[in-house]
Amino acid sequence: MTGPLLTVESLCVDYEQRRAGLFSSRARTLRAVDGISFELAEGETLGIVGETGCGKTSLGKAILQLVKASAGRVIWRGVDLARTDAETLTRLRSELQIVFQDPLSALNPRMPVGEIVSEPLRVHAPDISAKERQAAVAAMFERVGLRTEMTRGYPNEFSAGQCQRISIARAMITQPRLLVCDEPVSALDVSIQAQICNLLRRLQRETGISILFISHDLSVLRYMSHRVMVLYLGRLMEIGRRDELFDNPRHPYSRALIDAIPEADPNQSPLGMADALPGEIPSALDPPSGCVFRTRCPIATPECARERPPDECIAESHRVSCHHWRQARSQ
Ligand code: SF4
Repeated sequence: MTGPLLTVESLCVDYEQRRAGLFSSRARTLRAVDGISFELAEGETLGIVGETGCGKTSLGKAILQLVKASAGRVIWRGVDLARTDAETLTRLRSELQIVFQDPLSALNPRMPVGEIVSEPLRVHAPDISAKERQAAVAAMFERVGLRTEMTRGYPNEFSAGQCQRISIARAMITQPRLLVCDEPVSALDVSIQAQICNLLRRLQRETGISILFISHDLSVLRYMSHRVMVLYLGRLMEIGRRDELFDNPRHPYSRALIDAIPEADPNQSPLGMADALPGEIPSALDPPSGCVFRTRCPIATPECARERPPDECIAESHRVSCHHWRQARSQ
């Protein structure tokens, strides 16, 4: 494969918020994703990080066409997903799957888990027999570390970690080429988190699948990702290779996030998010002018209020959106 598997161009997602008054209601637009562009290669994991409300989940859903983009394009293997015909989109959907944060609520409580996992096959491979479907589900259960007899159980009979394995099995049963993992380990104990991360990495090695790994936890992201993208209030702040971004963050926001990572050495205390980045996230309904990060940025200047910083390419695969990225590291 020469070109990227996925190209996202200037993608925007808007939600209309209606505020009811006594005699009328007023609509306001919340821009959850604001002009994000990036590419994803085959077999690559791109980590997406940012605080609550930064647009991570909306971005993932817009890529999968689960929410409608208000502007921009999602090009999957050369096909513009928003503009293709319904038949092509249905066919391509089997290549694009998602794993959610809360595994138990993502599974239908009234269905045996084997049926839950086989459901996508009924939709995307209607011609295969019931026996073939059963065999595929049994093989997938073993692949994600579950026993085949577990297919008969219901979701509430399983632990959170087992439910996440079932969710992954359902997502993988159609042999997708892209997996959007939306905070897939946030609801799990630390020891189980490691098991699920290792499972996803093994599945990627075996299948060459590409992964968009959404998380607010930079330590998990560092373990999982080849590249990392940092979002704030719906905008891209920085994107680059994992080690480059962790060792030498160029954007003040990336730097604050990295400074707040808990240290493995108990004698070294991390800054903590409140110290690394004081202040509140502004409302997405009324974002700051110019650079949206300026109200919390330690090196903001009047220019930052006037002009939105451009996405600047500072090295191969490394882009930063900051007027003063050259000074950021020395502050
Ligand atoms: S553009 Fe200005 S406010 Fe925004 S991150 Fe850079 S220095 Fe800070």
